[in-house]
Amino acid sequence: MVIDLHTHTNFSDGTDTPTELINKALAAGIKVIGLTDHDSTGGWQEATAALRPGIALVPGAEISCQTTDGISVHILGLLFDSSNTELMNTLEKTRENRHGRMEKIIARINQAGIDISMKDVLEQLSDGATLGRPHLADALVKKGVVASRDEAFAQMLHNNSKYYVAHYSPTPEAAIKLIKAAGGVSVIAHPMASHRGRTISLETFGSLIEAGLDGIEVDHRDHSPDEKAQLIALARQANLVMTGASDYHGNGKLNQLGEYTTEPAQWERLESTANARRVLAI
Ligand code: AMP
Ligand code: ZN
Ligand code: FE
Ligand code: FE
Repeated sequence: MVIDLHTHTNFSDGTDTPTELINKALAAGIKVIGLTDHDSTGGWQEATAALRPGIALVPGAEISCQTTDGISVHILGLLFDSSNTELMNTLEKTRENRHGRMEKIIARINQAGIDISMKDVLEQLSDGATLGRPHLADALVKKGVVASRDEAFAQMLHNNSKYYVAHYSPTPEAAIKLIKAAGGVSVIAHPMASHRGRTISLETFGSLIEAGLDGIEVDHRDHSPDEKAQLIALARQANLVMTGASDYHGNGKLNQLGEYTTEPAQWERLESTANARRVLAI
């Protein structure tokens, strides 16, 4: 049974529609697919409508968080109740704040003499989708400033760039508690993806576990074998679920559906931790 719990669509910075995602996942032999757009549940409805026999949908979101010492952390919330007002309000606040943040990044890029506007960036975004740096990257590609999203991130948009501006985000501890209060489960995404910027300390890990973290995404293309070994040891010690996933973004990244997967026993444990059965299937 192939289980891939972390993917994106054009409701954030992926390039496939939710319908395309479900169709491609079916074709790739995936039986359980997690839909985890950044700070959004906007794709759930279309993905649910696209379901066919043979594939089940795990509704979720990848919540952008920031620790009190300024480290970016992504928390996957899965199987939560999307009518939970507190959690939905937090996601909405993050989505809205990403627009002001984008204006600031654009102003910095303009100051460096590069001509790009908010309009150029918004043209790269589907209606109602979560705005992110990948859309700015796409606009820079269209303008001929860089050749690809990857080049845009490597040269201009990475977290240590002079153009970088953060957006509002909850602390990971707050996100974990919000997900739990909404009946869902939380998994820290790619915790050791060091090329993205600073990663959390063991001490912060302890604080997330204390807050109620359910799982660790171990198998991910941004982790080296040594980093995976460290995460496996940590998960065993803290009795956390271990997951693996593709973090698929359509054409936006090289990540392929099902390139890393979650063991059925790990998934069963995670699923049974949610306060209701929320996996969707026909
Ligand atoms: P943001 O959410 O606006 O801070 O942008 C971060 C997102 O950009 C991440 O969640 C990734 O999905 C994406 N990203 C990061 N690095 C790259 C890269 N090198 N190529 C394409 N997308 C990237
Ligand atoms: Zn993304
Ligand atoms: Fe992420
Ligand atoms: Fe992701």
